[in-house]
Amino acid sequence: MPDYFLNIHTHRKPQSEDEVVIRNAYLSETLQNHRPAYPVSAGIHPWFIENDWKNQIEKLRKILLEYPVAAIGECGIDRVIDIHLSTQYEVMEAQIALNQHFNKPWIIHCVKACSDFLFLLKQIPQPVIFHDYRCNLTQTKSLMKYNRVYFSFGKSLLNPTPKLKEVIDYLPVENIFLETDTSPVKIQEIYRQYADLKKISVSKLKSGIVRNQHNAGINLL
Ligand SMILES: [Zn+2]
Repeated sequence: MPDYFLNIHTHRKPQSEDEVVIRNAYLSETLQNHRPAYPVSAGIHPWFIENDWKNQIEKLRKILLEYPVAAIGECGIDRVIDIHLSTQYEVMEAQIALNQHFNKPWIIHCVKACSDFLFLLKQIPQPVIFHDYRCNLTQTKSLMKYNRVYFSFGKSLLNPTPKLKEVIDYLPVENIFLETDTSPVKIQEIYRQYADLKKISVSKLKSGIVRNQHNAGINLL
């Protein structure tokens, strides 16, 4: 079994030799010209939906055709931003349609949108990873009724709320990933914190997450 700290969602390069990242590349132009030295995800983040989003979908299609991205995302639904919810749905549904062809796992941005995903997951056959997951226990139990749903945690683990602790207690290691997102914290620290909360060893956690990576179809090309 390979031995590394998988960082499922980050905006930076790997920080140590034992860290493997999926770096969020948005729709980066450089991605269209240079193959990156590490695995990336590409997608239309709800914060950056443009009026001409159909053109963004075409850019994404081009990236997916040219590069073996590890996942589509981050993309999703955010109920606290100004972009109209119906537009966010259109963009998400266009990405779902596009992914019928590419069949990649998803890295999902979900802000106050758990109920939206209880609906949207019916249209998504691929594995789904909710990044920086914040929903409550009841919502988590509903989402767990879907197959191949994963929940990723990051810096919120460093000061866990009672609500988060409940969710961590409930979720089996088989359904989780860990991440740093935009935070400067080290991925090793996030692993230690989760391992403490879950009362398992870091080495067991690492191998569990590598297994999840394979089960979720995350390809580190
Ligand atoms: Zn992010």
